[in-house]
Amino acid sequence: MHDKTLAELTRSLETREFSSRELTQHLLGRIDRLDGKLNSFITVTYDQALAAADAADATRAAGKAGPLTGLPLALKDIFCTRDVKTTAGSRMLDNFVSPYDASVVEKLAAAGTVSLGKNNMDEFAMGSSNENSHYGPVKNPWDLAAVPGGSSGGSAAAVAAGLVPAAIGTDTGGSIRQPAAFCGITGLKPTYGRVSRYGMIAYASSLDQAGPMARSSEDCALLLNAMAGHDLRDSTCVQRGVPDYTEELGTALAGLKIGLPSEYFGDGLDPQVETAVRDAIKVFESLGASVREVSLPHTHYAIPAYYVIAPAEASSNLSRFDGVRFGYRCDNPADLIDLYKRSRAEGFGDEVKRRILIGTHTLSEGFFDAYYKKAQQVRRLIRQDFLDAFEEVDVLMGPASPTPAFDLGANKDPVSMYLQDIYTIAVNLAGIPGMSVPAGFVGSRPVGLQILGSHFTEARLLNVAHQFQQATDWHRQHPAFAEENA
Ligand code: GLN
Repeated sequence: MHDKTLAELTRSLETREFSSRELTQHLLGRIDRLDGKLNSFITVTYDQALAAADAADATRAAGKAGPLTGLPLALKDIFCTRDVKTTAGSRMLDNFVSPYDASVVEKLAAAGTVSLGKNNMDEFAMGSSNENSHYGPVKNPWDLAAVPGGSSGGSAAAVAAGLVPAAIGTDTGGSIRQPAAFCGITGLKPTYGRVSRYGMIAYASSLDQAGPMARSSEDCALLLNAMAGHDLRDSTCVQRGVPDYTEELGTALAGLKIGLPSEYFGDGLDPQVETAVRDAIKVFESLGASVREVSLPHTHYAIPAYYVIAPAEASSNLSRFDGVRFGYRCDNPADLIDLYKRSRAEGFGDEVKRRILIGTHTLSEGFFDAYYKKAQQVRRLIRQDFLDAFEEVDVLMGPASPTPAFDLGANKDPVSMYLQDIYTIAVNLAGIPGMSVPAGFVGSRPVGLQILGSHFTEARLLNVAHQFQQATDWHRQHPAFAEENA
């Protein structure tokens, strides 16, 4: 049961091969047995999951099941959940229980999904390896010495290990795509504004976006159908109809124009990752697509611009964690200032503090124009690079990450960690959608092919990835860890 896709699980539920309760019990059992080795969950919601599964089975028995009824999933612990704690991977929120559900949580519950719990993540979604979590690092099920990627590392590891068929992550600079690549699963970052951010703990509000992480592109389409759409509670959520994202699946790729950004195949790209990505692109050529080189000339400004904009927004967003209103409060404060200072000093981890310091500096008087304003101008140029490229091609393809998953502890220097996001970050600055799709291995560690499209072309991206998955079986590979512990 644990290696099936959502689409396959629905067929099994329909034919009564097993019930949602049986499926849920099986997966909860696997989490109990295996997650001690992975650390992919912060909270497992046994009772709520079984109650939701029973409700889903009743809905099905009444003939009212929808496409997601009774399907288990897990939520990155950045989505607020009523009655279940939401930590954002931080000591600051270790005791925080939200009084409401995030919009995404509400919608997925209304669609009949069964949440098994909350996934581990880098603290406040800041990181590329899941080593910044207050709850300890997550291990990659393909190789327990490797990181799963970040910041949605717990979600990616849980799906890869067969603990849950799908998970919901967030992507501010690559946090869905890079862990999907490192763990050999399929992940989609939708267009900025496609999915409501209401109830999603804010890191960098102009970049954050929620998206599905699953075993196939088809599953991502099914999940996006339930997640996307306007929400009055998020003013950046676009008012635009939601197509049926499964409808384009099945469209032939003959005539598709693929662009390969030369900047994504340069120095720093692991040669074996490059070989896997180029082999994947040959599959698209065999399916009738044409391939040409394009240029995104401002690519090398993406990381510097991001590391001005994201920390600036983070320093503002995280000012609400003051020891008074949410979460952690220090013991025996001497006075109000001491309470603020020590609650923040003790509640936040090092990477979060580093970003608050950078962000506060770049927003301060005298530096704002030199840093923040300049970074926003650069951002516009980066966006324009993509718009120009999409005048000539339908999609862009390249690696999701310059290397396969690295060893735990291997990237101690923050700047070398920041450089991990070289191929993903510009996408958030431009607001366009992007996917990572399994496309091979380096040794036992997966490689992700990144597929990018212009704003609101998720349906096309999902089909492009789906056609690849019809022609290949990289997404069908499971780590030995999942099989040995079946
Ligand atoms: N790794 C990037 C960062 O640390 C992106 C994280 C994300 O997408 N949430 O900010």
